[in-house]
Amino acid sequence: MVVDAVENCKKQGVDVVVFSEVQGNPTGENVEAGIRAYNAGNHDGVIAFGGGSSLDAAKAIALCAGQTRPVWDFEDIGDNWTRADPSAIAPVIAIPTTAGTGSEVGRASVITDASNHSKKIIFHPQMLPVQVLLDPEVTTGLPPHITAATGMDALSHNLEALCAPGYHPMADGIAMEGIRLIRDFLPVAYSDGRNIEARTQLLVASSMGATAFQKGLGGMHALAHTLGGLYDKHHGLLNAILMPYVMEANKEEISGKMAALGQYLGMENPDFDSVLNWVLDLRTSLGIPHTLAEIGIPSDDVDRVGKMAEVDPTAGTNPIRFSATEYSQIFIHSVEGKLSQ
Ligand SMILES: [Zn+2]
Repeated sequence: MVVDAVENCKKQGVDVVVFSEVQGNPTGENVEAGIRAYNAGNHDGVIAFGGGSSLDAAKAIALCAGQTRPVWDFEDIGDNWTRADPSAIAPVIAIPTTAGTGSEVGRASVITDASNHSKKIIFHPQMLPVQVLLDPEVTTGLPPHITAATGMDALSHNLEALCAPGYHPMADGIAMEGIRLIRDFLPVAYSDGRNIEARTQLLVASSMGATAFQKGLGGMHALAHTLGGLYDKHHGLLNAILMPYVMEANKEEISGKMAALGQYLGMENPDFDSVLNWVLDLRTSLGIPHTLAEIGIPSDDVDRVGKMAEVDPTAGTNPIRFSATEYSQIFIHSVEGKLSQ
């Protein structure tokens, strides 16, 4: 795929160099190496080609390559983003090869600070790619377990955006339809990776999730960011496992919205329990483990996990403002597989 893309660029007279030293859960070091490659080659733009980690690294490289400050100076706190010289930000063309992150329509990147294993959100309005190519052909080769984990990430974006407090009917509408597309097409893409319609609809649902979550994310991501930073696990897989536990902890605040969602999805008894059961069945059908223990996450660091999740930027738009102790509790339930039903 990358070879084809490079050849096509060269045929069109666009001189490109491949930089691919990006790990899953990209680090500040990956971004710095990319900045060095960008400046060494005297480039004037970035083609972000890959899954969420590649897109996020590429966007951060494009932001920082022309700046004098390190990437951490653009962490999404207050008006840090105004520190960047906007004229020095490189344009990005994004081509996602997974359907999950939606980073192609986002103005931020999640980068791991390896010095303390924390995930930081790097933000600038101009990080939004100038062009996005959603090409289902480049996602047909994804193995089923990655299709499942990335698709569940897209579901978590739509679901957390819908549940985030605040008045935003447009985001809510996008989120509900994104969830419907995932309901209808994720199982198809999982069992038949070459189904172009399913792959197309999932790419769209993924972009819709990231569009909707301009409204906010919530506790799934607060914990997924924390655990991704500490244990270097797949972001989508973490969200997929955490989803029912966070939903249950939020039940009191989201029952009305889950009833509306259930109705939109045409469920027989549209209520919180029906949506939760659908999520549980979907996870099972996609081979997603039920507990964090099954992917090797122990409950040892429970206090640290709770404290880190409480201050994750996405915690601010969870329907309930959970304390560190409450996050620790949800974490323990997710390790041990404790759901009330
Ligand atoms: Zn996510």
